[in-house]
Amino acid sequence: MKRTILSAAILLSITFANAQHKAVGPIDKKVDALLAKMTLEEKIGQMTQVTLAEIIKSDGDPAVPQIDTVKLRDAIFKYHVGSFLNVTAGAVSRETWYHIISDIQKIAAEDRLKIPVIYGIDAMHGMNYTTGSTLFPQEIGMAATFNPALVEREGAITAYEVRASYIPWNFSPVLDLGRNPLWPRIYETFGEDPYLAKTMGAAIIKGSQGNDVGDKYHVAACLKHYLGYSFPLDGKDRTPAWIPDRYMREYFLPSFAEAIKDGAKSIMINSSEINGVPVHASKYLLTDVLRGELHFKGIAVSDWQDIIYLHDRHHIAATPKDAVMIAVNAGVDMSMVPYNYSFCDYLDQLVKEGNVPMSRINESVKRILRVKYELGLFERPVGNPDDYPKFGSAEFSAVSLKAATESITLLKNNNNILPLKKNIKVLVTGPSANTMRALDGGWSYTWQGDFSDKFAVDNNTILEAIQQKIGKENVDYQPGSTFYDAADADAAVKAAKKADIIVLCLGEPSYAENVGNIDDLNLPAAQIQLADELAQTGKPIVLVMAEGRPRIITEAESKSAATIMTYLSGNEGGNALADILFGDANPSGKLPFTYPRSANALVNYYRKNIENGNSDDGHGYNPLYEFGYGLSYTTFIYSNLHISKPTLKGGETLSISVDVKNTGSREGKESVLLYISELYASITPDTKRLRGFDKVDLQPGETKTVTFKITAKDISFINDISQRVTEAGEFKIQLGDQVQRFNYETTTQPSRTGRL
Ligand code: BGC
Repeated sequence: MKRTILSAAILLSITFANAQHKAVGPIDKKVDALLAKMTLEEKIGQMTQVTLAEIIKSDGDPAVPQIDTVKLRDAIFKYHVGSFLNVTAGAVSRETWYHIISDIQKIAAEDRLKIPVIYGIDAMHGMNYTTGSTLFPQEIGMAATFNPALVEREGAITAYEVRASYIPWNFSPVLDLGRNPLWPRIYETFGEDPYLAKTMGAAIIKGSQGNDVGDKYHVAACLKHYLGYSFPLDGKDRTPAWIPDRYMREYFLPSFAEAIKDGAKSIMINSSEINGVPVHASKYLLTDVLRGELHFKGIAVSDWQDIIYLHDRHHIAATPKDAVMIAVNAGVDMSMVPYNYSFCDYLDQLVKEGNVPMSRINESVKRILRVKYELGLFERPVGNPDDYPKFGSAEFSAVSLKAATESITLLKNNNNILPLKKNIKVLVTGPSANTMRALDGGWSYTWQGDFSDKFAVDNNTILEAIQQKIGKENVDYQPGSTFYDAADADAAVKAAKKADIIVLCLGEPSYAENVGNIDDLNLPAAQIQLADELAQTGKPIVLVMAEGRPRIITEAESKSAATIMTYLSGNEGGNALADILFGDANPSGKLPFTYPRSANALVNYYRKNIENGNSDDGHGYNPLYEFGYGLSYTTFIYSNLHISKPTLKGGETLSISVDVKNTGSREGKESVLLYISELYASITPDTKRLRGFDKVDLQPGETKTVTFKITAKDISFINDISQRVTEAGEFKIQLGDQVQRFNYETTTQPSRTGRL
C-alpha cells in the first residue's frame, strides 16, 4: 500500500497522546513529575540509543527504508528506547523521513508514559542525509572563510533542513582541533587554531539552536568529540593520544568550553583514549571537568558502540557488563549502543546489584528529558511538512555558493596569471576534476560520500562549471590519473600541448573516519607524476587541490604557476571555483591550518620558539604555507597600527586598531588576523597566537580601520599547575606586517592551588 505524505490522523493522535505533558509549569517541574512516574526500566530506556537499521524491514528497498513495527514495538514497549539515529543505505527523501519519524513517534506515544523519541543525525555540512538538501563546504572550508556570520547562516539553514526532515537533534559541530594533518577527520574541523575553532563553534551553535531551540526551525547541537579526539600520536582515527592536562586545557578545551557557555544542548564523547584512559571511562573528564568546571547541563552521549568497546577494544573492562558500569558511573548519559539492547539488560542488573547508583540514573534521565521538553517534542513530536518551503531552495544554495567562494584559498599566483581570460583554450585534467566526491567529501548522502555523483548529479563538478563558464568548445578534458594510478597520462599531455592553460585538479577521494587513515601524507605518486609530465609541456599549470587535509604537494606545486586550495567546498564548489578562475569572484579564503612542506615536518603555526630552528641547521619551521595565508586579486596595505595605551593593567581593556587599504583595482575582502604573543613567560610562550579576526570588504582605494578590544583574559594561558593566568610582561602584536609591543601589569599573584 502506498503511503501518502502527512496523515492528519497520525499527527492528531500523537499530539493528543502527549497533550498531558503540556503547560504545567517550567521544564524542571515537568521533568521531575515525569521522572517520579518512571520505572527503572523506563529510565534506562531513555538512556538507550539504537540505530535505524535495527527497526526497519529487512526485505524492503534499502533506498526507502520502512519501519518494521514488530521490531519497533519491541524496542519501545519492551525496552522503552528513548532515541534512534542514523540512516541505513544513505540519504532518503523528506517524505521517507516523514514516514520513519511518524511511525516511531506514533508507537512511542502508545507506550505507558508516552515519552517522545529524540532522533539524532549527522548533518555535518548541511542536511547531508536528505535528498535535495543544501550541502555547504565542510567545516574546514567554512573556517577558511574567516566569516562567522556565514557559519551562523550555514548552521541556521542546516537546522531548518534537519527539522524539515522531522529530526530535532544534529550531531554537529565537530569542535576538535585539526592539528595533525594525517588525521582523517581534519576536514570536519574548524582547523588548527583554538580561537578560530571557538569562534566558528559559537557561530554555528547560534545558527543551529537559535534563540529557542524548541521552535520548528532549530535543532539541538551536539559538540564532538569531547575531548582530545583529534590528536592521536600516529594520526590514525581512534588511536591513543598523549595529552597533558595543561596542554588539553590550553588548546583542546576552549572550543568546547565556549560552546557550553553558549548553551549547547549535548556533547558526544571521544571514542579513543588519552594518556591510557578511554574517555568514555574518564570520570575526571566526563564529570569533574564537564559538569564540575564547565557546568554543562545537557546530554553526554557515547559515540558509536563505545561503551562495548571499553571491553572488547580498550580492554579496561573485563566484561561488557563492567563496561556499562564504568561508563555510566564516569558520567555517560546515553549509550549509542547501537545494535542491540544489551545496555538495557546490563544497566538494569547493575542498578539492582547496587553497582550503579540510582542517583546517577536519575541525573542522566533528567538531562535527556529536559532536552526533549526544550525541543518541543512533547507538543510536536513530528513537524508539519508544509512548514519548510525553503528546503533545498535557490536562496539556500546561494548561501552555499557564497560560503564556497569565500573559502577557496589562492596560495600562489605568479605574474598574476589568474584570473584567466574567458576566450582561451583550457585543458581540465586530474582525478578531482570531474567528480562531486572531491567537492563534497565524506558525510555526503552516504557515510563515505561515495555516491555523491549520483545524488548531486544536478550540481556542477569542476569540469562542468568551467565548461559552463567558457563554453564546452573551449574545454578539453582528460582524467590523466585516478587518485592512485595513472590513467592515460599521455592523452593528457597531448591535450595540454593544444591548450593555453592546464587546470590540474589533484586531491583526495571522499572518505570518513578510519576509512580515511593513511600511512603517508604525500599525495599518491601517480598524481605527482601527472603534474611532472604536464609541466614538461611548458604550458602554465593552475594547480587546484580538492582535499580534506593538506597532502604533501611540494614538488607538484613548484611546477605550478598558480595554486588554489578548494578544501571540500560542497555542492556549489565547482561553480565557486570557476567564478574565481575566470575573475567573476575575488578569492578571500585563508588557510585554517599550516600547509606542511614535507611529510615529517608537521608543526602547527603557534609553535614554540625552539621549533623555529636555528640558522645553521636549516631544519626550522618552514611550512609550504603558513596558517592564515591566502592571496587576493587585489592588494591590501596595512598601516597605522595603534594601541590605546602602552600598558594594559588587570581589569582594563586595550584597544588595538589598524588601517587596511585596498590598493588594487578591484573590490576585495580581507580577513584581518590579530596575533599576540608574550615574549617571556613561566611556560615557554607560543611564537604567535590568534587572538582576534575581522573580515572587511573594501572597494578599490578604500581604507577601513579595524579595531580589536583585548582584556587580560584574551592573552592568558594555562600554567604549569593547570591554572588559567595572565602573567605580567611584554607582548608583541602582529597585524599584517605591522608590529607593536605593549606591557601587561598586574598586582595579583595567582594562588598556587586550585584552578582559575
Ligand atoms: C562518529 C560520530 C558520529 C556517530 C554517529 C561515529 O562513528 O565518530 O561523529 O556522530 O558515528 O553516526
